[in-house]
Amino acid sequence: PMPGLEPHEHHRICVCVRKRPLNERETIMQDLDIITIVSDHTVVVHESKQKLDLTRYLENQTFCFDHAFDDTASNERVYRFTAQPLVESIFRQGMATCFAYGQTGSGKTHTMGGAFFGRAQDCSKGIYALVARDVFLLLKNSTYEQLDLKVYGTFFEIYGGKVYDLLNWKKKLQILEDGKQQIQVVGLQEEEVHCTEEVMSLVELGNRCRTSGQTSVNVHSSRSHAVFQIILKSRGKLHGKFSLIDLAGNERGADTVKANRKRQLEGAEINKSLLALKECIRALGHHTSHTPFRASKLTQVLRDSFIGQNSSTCMIATISPGMTSCENTLNTLRYANRVK
Ligand code: ADP
Ligand code: MG
Repeated sequence: PMPGLEPHEHHRICVCVRKRPLNERETIMQDLDIITIVSDHTVVVHESKQKLDLTRYLENQTFCFDHAFDDTASNERVYRFTAQPLVESIFRQGMATCFAYGQTGSGKTHTMGGAFFGRAQDCSKGIYALVARDVFLLLKNSTYEQLDLKVYGTFFEIYGGKVYDLLNWKKKLQILEDGKQQIQVVGLQEEEVHCTEEVMSLVELGNRCRTSGQTSVNVHSSRSHAVFQIILKSRGKLHGKFSLIDLAGNERGADTVKANRKRQLEGAEINKSLLALKECIRALGHHTSHTPFRASKLTQVLRDSFIGQNSSTCMIATISPGMTSCENTLNTLRYANRVK
């Protein structure tokens, strides 16, 4: 293997959890850290810290995953156990997919490296950049040289069940399913890239496009799925694909009750797509013949990720440590637990 590319154990589906540190606001509010990561695989939720409210006095809840990262883990470390083992598969005509799933503010974009603002963020160390780095490293490998591979990037957003091209001024795109059950996002921009820096320029461009005209970046990103893909083509034909998805926030809190009709519809759409996603990943893991990918736009455009012998998926469920996020954190952990 190439230096820095030692293969870690490979699963078709790998589900991991990442806890972020308490942030400044939570620290000032004296929010309690109720999450403990034990021996790299186990997440313990100390609900019992809610002693003050006796009606909610419960046992600790424990969840096990392929990997669990505590708040000291770097993106590089998270990458090493999640997306990195999948990179080489796309050179062998595989479809690799990595999802960041979790509540808004829990660290999805921080993990993927899709934000170019904020203090503690170094996007060059996010999963987008790390996948790109290793793709270009492997491209130089003599084993793959004869394939004459070219690398392309696409970046689009799914919002309210519609697809928008982030590399083309948020142009609204149609999805076509042909007779051979191939799904096509018609007219999606594919930009050829030659190095990691060019990939990161695409991410930056797409991000600027994504958030332009939005009053709040976080409000918008909490309601849309961002899909970044690195595509390998051999003599013009699709060879392999790595899809990296920064999912919409999974929280469906009390605010949706009072929210206006538009927000409610958005919420329902997100719910639908996250449920469909769960079922599609489960079908992949259980080798079921029926994959309900048509149940949402998200799963429809990602059909390649769920079907075929050579598809592998990893999910990084990001969680906030605070007691004030307990409900959302438990929902995230239950979802991730079901996907395995
Ligand atoms: P999301 O995309 O899930 O809404 P973000 O990635 O934007 O969440 O994270 C919210 C804030 O928390 C950001 O300021 C980010 O820098 C910070 N953050 C998230 N995860 C971590 C982490 N593991 N370590 C340090 N800071 C983090
Ligand atoms: Mg985000």
